[in-house]
Amino acid sequence: MSRTDAPGTDGTDAMGSDMTGTTAPGTTTDAGAPTLTPEDVRRVGEPLDGRVPEVPAEQAWDDRRLHYDLVAPANRRKFTVIVVGTGLAGSGAAAALGELGYQVECFTIHDAPRRAHSVAAQGGINAARARKVDNDSVHRFVKDTVKGGDFRGREADAYRLAQESVRVIDHMNAIGAPFAREYGGRLATRSFGGVQVSRTYYTRGQTGQQLQVAGANALLRQVARGTVTLHTRQEMLDLIVADGRAQGIVVRDLVTGEVRAVTAHAVVLATGGYGNIYCKSTLAKNSNATAAWRAHRRGAHFANPAFIQFHPTALPLMSEWQSKTILMSESLRNDGRIWVPARAGDDRAPADIPEDERDYYLERRYPTYGNLTPRDVASRAARERIDAGHGVGPLRNAVYLDFADAVARLGRETVVSRYSNLFHMYEQATGDDPLRTPMRIAPGAHFAMGGLWSDYDLMTSVPGLFVGGEVGWGYHGANRLGANSLLSACVDGWFTLPYAVPGYLAPLLGSHVLPPDHEAVLDALEAVRARTQRLLRNDGTQGPDRFHRRLGEILYRCAGVTRTPEGLAQGIAEIRALREEFWRDVRVLGEGSALNQELERAGRVADYLEMAELLCVDGLDRDESCGAHFRADHQTPDGEALRDDTTWCRVSAWESPAPDAPDQRFVRHDEPLTFQAVPLQTRNYA
Ligand SMILES: Cc1cc2nc3c(=O)[nH]c(=O)nc-3n(C[C@H](O)[C@H](O)[C@H](O)COP(=O)(O)OP(=O)(O)OC[C@H]3O[C@@H](n4cnc5c(N)ncnc54)[C@H](O)[C@@H]3O)c2cc1C
Repeated sequence: MSRTDAPGTDGTDAMGSDMTGTTAPGTTTDAGAPTLTPEDVRRVGEPLDGRVPEVPAEQAWDDRRLHYDLVAPANRRKFTVIVVGTGLAGSGAAAALGELGYQVECFTIHDAPRRAHSVAAQGGINAARARKVDNDSVHRFVKDTVKGGDFRGREADAYRLAQESVRVIDHMNAIGAPFAREYGGRLATRSFGGVQVSRTYYTRGQTGQQLQVAGANALLRQVARGTVTLHTRQEMLDLIVADGRAQGIVVRDLVTGEVRAVTAHAVVLATGGYGNIYCKSTLAKNSNATAAWRAHRRGAHFANPAFIQFHPTALPLMSEWQSKTILMSESLRNDGRIWVPARAGDDRAPADIPEDERDYYLERRYPTYGNLTPRDVASRAARERIDAGHGVGPLRNAVYLDFADAVARLGRETVVSRYSNLFHMYEQATGDDPLRTPMRIAPGAHFAMGGLWSDYDLMTSVPGLFVGGEVGWGYHGANRLGANSLLSACVDGWFTLPYAVPGYLAPLLGSHVLPPDHEAVLDALEAVRARTQRLLRNDGTQGPDRFHRRLGEILYRCAGVTRTPEGLAQGIAEIRALREEFWRDVRVLGEGSALNQELERAGRVADYLEMAELLCVDGLDRDESCGAHFRADHQTPDGEALRDDTTWCRVSAWESPAPDAPDQRFVRHDEPLTFQAVPLQTRNYA
């Protein structure tokens, strides 16, 4: 089947019950399920080399740093570097490169750098400093991360993350992040899922906010010094590639509508994750995948797009018209206990259900880790209980997170002091006081482990195009451990890109940025203008948000917590049909020459509609279960993920076919994964 002759969908806007995930994956809406095989939708291309130094994993970063070429201080101002994004990764990279003396052009869709989505992070940031006497270490951090990711990330990248984590906390503290402290003045820590030590640094439930403010201020300091030029309310809509190198971007001014090209010696994308492709996700509505997807269409391979994390402590959906889900931080699982009524269909109020009629299912199934099992395991277990009829709340689509024991043990004051802003947020969202009646939580689309493929130097398959933070793929494998993402964004921004980018630039000394009349610049500008006009001139009847909701419903149903080959094939067919309908019937009101948020959303939804197909193709192709990619046809008798290390111990890095290519199948490039320090083993949290 080609990518364009897919069967139609019945067109229902099936939000409600399907969004709770209670419909079995693979359920068809058309007569007859599509029978796609992986070979129908992809072919295999050349293998990829991650260019990891050929030394033991723990020595790789020292070795690579030693071998990077340097740029002399007086020559740095001769190079221009574009940084797209001002989140933790982007602000760190731009500030550090500016401090070093490079000319940095920094772009954000927001009106101020501190509004980047990192500001929303709640729970904390990990560091392997082993300040508690609980037997933590750099090696244990690597072990937890590699194992937590179910052996589908790069081990050497995890080592770099662990090694640099040791200085991240002091650095962020020095530039203004006020971490929580114990009574004696030492920095406080707590635990997150998938670990048995206490390595998470935090500022109450506002860790992201404090880190982001510190990072944004460091960026603004460089703006004041003149090394960084900040461009707010500018959206990158294309990448300029000339002579096989990334040499600029095309941006649209979101206020005036002006479209222009900016050229440079290198481009860094730090544009965040694509979880919003599911429409109802824990991300801010403005977070989007357009920069990454446009770079992909210009040649940057996309790694493991099916690796999406469903966070177990999101709030359940209450209404089909809800625009997003809200996250309750994983830190709550330190003190909250998760349970459901032991009897299916029990609709008594929680206080009326006696202790022996409750099922603390995580503690029962995973006594070693209990409520702090990794997110993929906790989400799957919740989904299983909900689907088995034990769900609670008006839509029976949630489980309880209960603080009664913690209050009895620690006292209300202590519990409130740890989580007060989260409790407040919950009460604002639901009207319930979580200290009187247990919170109701459910799995929700959250973090993207997949992203633009990059080598060990964070350089994509397009030379000169680098990634930092959630837009990349490297560290987290098939399941990210809580509090490792703020860390990876900081490590990329402050401590990896400032070495790797100069290493790329050094041999380019004396070269000039592309002139504005270069063919590649004009071509990219024209592509953006044509696409914008096509959206504005389409004589359709449905707004872009309607398509986004329908796409999210398809993805939750066909590529959710549990997947089947039939469901994924069905998803591909429905997405193709929805994309065709989008371009036939989307209606974008307003003009291109002024602020037009509907136009912004339409462009992003158009990209999601392309990317979603690849997400399902990747899920169909990866014929195993690993981490958050749980295929019902690959599970142990206990319902745990069953990996296939013989065939799938590798990264799938995808290339999309050109629109006019005779073969419309996606091309999969493989990077084999090897593990030295943490030998391959079956995950066991029981
Ligand atoms: C609710 C929530 C809570 C979380 N809590 C934690 C936590 O406690 N600990 C943890 O480790 N992780 C947490 N995470 C994950 C973590 O916050 C993110 O993975 C991380 O902050 C991403 O940082 P980033 O710098 O990669 O991207 P972001 O912070 O998302 O920044 C993206 C930047 O790119 C810009 N941008 C995007 N597209 C374009 C474009 N086309 N053109 C121009 N600019 C563009 C945006 O304006 C923004 O400046 C949480 C995530 C969520 C959703």
